[in-house]
Amino acid sequence: MNFEKTEKLFQKYPDLFNQDSLVYGFECQDGWFDILTNFAEQIRHYRSDRVCVTKFEIIQVKQKMGALRIYANGCDAVIRSLIEEAEEQSQSVCELDGEPAIGLFVCAPEWYRHLCERCAGLHGCMTMEDYHQGCVERTIEQQNLYI
Ligand SMILES: [Zn+2]
Repeated sequence: MNFEKTEKLFQKYPDLFNQDSLVYGFECQDGWFDILTNFAEQIRHYRSDRVCVTKFEIIQVKQKMGALRIYANGCDAVIRSLIEEAEEQSQSVCELDGEPAIGLFVCAPEWYRHLCERCAGLHGCMTMEDYHQGCVERTIEQQNLYI
């Protein structure tokens, strides 16, 4: 996630997103910023009118196999379900620009992303079906995606 969005999340939700825990920041692209913002709002709202005995701590936020993954300690059942909800939501939102995703694409070998039609075309990403057909030449756009 870019610097500006990362700073926004750290500054707005220091109680949830701790820079000392999230040493690598948010290990996903900008398109999931709104999902993370909504997630943080829901967690904050849930905890605001409760006395929480366990220390809730988010230890990693990343993209794995094309979906958002939020790792945390001290979750109760409600928080766990909010995490699952955010992770599930990420599968229908383009990781690059936040538009509705049309499916899971392969952007590089073993590198998956949920993308909208525009981003998939722009970066020459393959559908899962094409990927399993065999090798396809890597485009310049794909290489630029990983700088
Ligand atoms: Zn997109």
